[in-house]
Amino acid sequence: MDFSVTFWGVRGSIACPSPNHVIYGGNTSCLEVVAGGRHIILDAGTGIRGLGHKVMEQGIQASTLLLTHTHWDHINGFPFFAPVFQKHRSLDIYAGHLHDAGGIQSVLASSMSNPVFPVPLEALQAELTFHDFKAGETLLLGDDVTVRTAALNHPNGSTGYRIEYDGKAMCYVTDTEHRPGEPDRNVLELIRGADLVIYDSTYTDDEYPRHVGWGHSTWQEGVRLCRAAEVKRMAIFHHDPDHDDTFMTKVEAEAAESWPGAFVAREGMTVDIGALSSA
Ligand SMILES: [Zn+2]
Ligand SMILES: [Zn+2]
Repeated sequence: MDFSVTFWGVRGSIACPSPNHVIYGGNTSCLEVVAGGRHIILDAGTGIRGLGHKVMEQGIQASTLLLTHTHWDHINGFPFFAPVFQKHRSLDIYAGHLHDAGGIQSVLASSMSNPVFPVPLEALQAELTFHDFKAGETLLLGDDVTVRTAALNHPNGSTGYRIEYDGKAMCYVTDTEHRPGEPDRNVLELIRGADLVIYDSTYTDDEYPRHVGWGHSTWQEGVRLCRAAEVKRMAIFHHDPDHDDTFMTKVEAEAAESWPGAFVAREGMTVDIGALSSA
């Protein structure tokens, strides 16, 4: 049974293509999850543009887009996702932080309105269906994929996802800020026993004190949470654009030394979730 995740964008904040961001990649948050016959996209940062070409080439007709939240780095690739301009394709769009704040359709529409973008949401040809839920609810995608959700600690809100398929589980936990010394119970509960956790590792523990209240966490906190929750593997994710290849290579070595289950997500990387074993 196929259950895999591919990283199309691994950055936070803003895309940062440059000769110093070649190894890990410069596109913002976008992941592709294949769970059996189901095609799931996590976030629509600039990485979704490349994924759009793959969807067209492979003739994938229906996808589900799960948004953590609607900060720019998680949605601004959306109007460049080519399949939304095609009539015979469908996209179900979910968000868990706007239930009482206008809903996802109106937020996407305003992000694509004059004079900041020339093509309005209504002009898209694909069949779009919008779903607002409250973070904490469980979503069922067909009868074989269960998606558990949890509210994260982030300005304007964010939603963490746990996708379960064929007895395995992968979690996507970004953007979220921890409180030092107080493991986030929502996160611990969501990730417990998961095969893979993709975690907001924008900062290092050394950098964090200068960014309190900015809504992000550290790879060291991710390792603490994953060890406590008996997770098999953790992907360091949502890299700060100021962290170039040299910096991230150092993080990769330090993280692996601290816990062999940790690795740094790179654009283009595919992880077979069914094949993961404990580190
Ligand atoms: Zn972000
Ligand atoms: Zn954010």
